[in-house]
Amino acid sequence: MTVVEKYFELNPVNTDPQRIRKERDRARKLKKSQWWLNLVNQGTCAYCKKTFSKNELTMDHYVPLARGGLSTKSNIVPSCCACNQEKKLEIPTEEVMRRVIVDSHHQDGI
Ligand SMILES: [Zn+2]
Repeated sequence: MTVVEKYFELNPVNTDPQRIRKERDRARKLKKSQWWLNLVNQGTCAYCKKTFSKNELTMDHYVPLARGGLSTKSNIVPSCCACNQEKKLEIPTEEVMRRVIVDSHHQDGI
């Protein structure tokens, strides 16, 4: 996993603390919305599709804020802790890519 950890660069425009703070504020407001409560009550993690209680689900940005993502309904999904931890600053397609790379390395005995 460490071999392919840094194949993307963070853009300073995206990691600007003011921008992040603004988007976090917007996320906080969305957390109180009926839209979010409905999602959490359904209890499905957007990544592993397993069912969780509403206390076990966290708000996750599909495209992370530090990668240029916004706090919009289309970019926010409920995620269980395990998936949230696993994903970190990757976008989901990159996570899939990393698994493919790690798997192929594993097969090659690297
Ligand atoms: Zn999950």
